[in-house]
Amino acid sequence: MKPPPFHYAAPTSVAEAVALLGAHADDDARVLAGGQSLVPLMNFRLAQPGWLVDLRRIDELGHIRTDGDTLVIGAMVRQSEAEHSPEVAVVAPLLAEALGYVAHAPIRNSGTVGGSIAHADPAAELPAVALALDAELVVAGPRGTRRIAADAFFRGPFSTALEADEILTEVRVPRRAGGHAFVEFTRTHGTFALVGVAAVVELDGDTVTRASVALSGVGPTPVRAAAAEQALTGTAPDADTVRAAADAAAADLSPAGDVHGSSETRTDIARSTLRRGIALALQRAQDRR
Ligand SMILES: Cc1cc2nc3c(=O)[nH]c(=O)nc-3n(C[C@H](O)[C@H](O)[C@H](O)COP(=O)(O)OP(=O)(O)OC[C@H]3O[C@@H](n4cnc5c(N)ncnc54)[C@H](O)[C@@H]3O)c2cc1C
Repeated sequence: MKPPPFHYAAPTSVAEAVALLGAHADDDARVLAGGQSLVPLMNFRLAQPGWLVDLRRIDELGHIRTDGDTLVIGAMVRQSEAEHSPEVAVVAPLLAEALGYVAHAPIRNSGTVGGSIAHADPAAELPAVALALDAELVVAGPRGTRRIAADAFFRGPFSTALEADEILTEVRVPRRAGGHAFVEFTRTHGTFALVGVAAVVELDGDTVTRASVALSGVGPTPVRAAAAEQALTGTAPDADTVRAAADAAAADLSPAGDVHGSSETRTDIARSTLRRGIALALQRAQDRR
């Protein structure tokens, strides 16, 4: 299918892109990044923007750098570039691992890190990773720039704190010590998973000093597994502790059922995926001591 007609602009600066979004707000102007989600939506007539503001010529959005202990990823960095970036591997290995689960390599060659986060699919990997890592999302608009914490950014399915005339410009990820793991339960490699778990566990000796766990696929937004974090922190965990942490987090979930499984099935899958994710992050943290 072909998309409905639209106007097209390819600005070379963020300021120009923001001005275009504002000027054509009444015409449902939308940003085009990698096009891997938006173009199919347009082809199926599920999105009908009157204007597309293509960000691909804006060089300032295309870089990965470090700023002290923070990894800064431009919104237009391709998912495949971030997946193989030495900076990402060192500062945010959880993100690098999760990227390997996003779709297939050809899609990651076009899809962008910022596009995945701005699209806010509740089943997507990167929003859960952003939540687990306490990432900050930098946003530019006509009123200037602002930083939004990941836990305030995701508002609902495909809905974020971005205003219609704002652009996500950077993803800022603080460096985390310890062990990490991204695991998911999927029917077919390369498709959206039923449940994903992003986990980071930090140890002092045998004791967990900090645990961060987030899930995808179990709610309208990525979900923080606060009960699991609390159950782990301050303990010297063994298999029983990990099981109890996963059970505690699963007890807080009430995912919607769908064609892939009932709410109960999804909760069961979340529980076992939580166990796997937490156990692997813990194992890696222990290996790094
Ligand atoms: C077959 C297939 C399988 C897939 N499987 C997965 C999967 O398993 N996991 C997964 O996470 N994703 C999956 N995807 C989606 C893929 O990761 C997309 O690349 C991603 O969701 C969107 O990134 P994009 O750069 O292509 O954004 P686009 O499609 O260009 O844009 C998506 C939306 O975000 C908005 N947007 C994009 N960038 C910005 C910005 N900087 N500021 C403000 N708004 C912005 C656009 O206006 C649009 O509304 C799949 C896609 C396909 C086609």
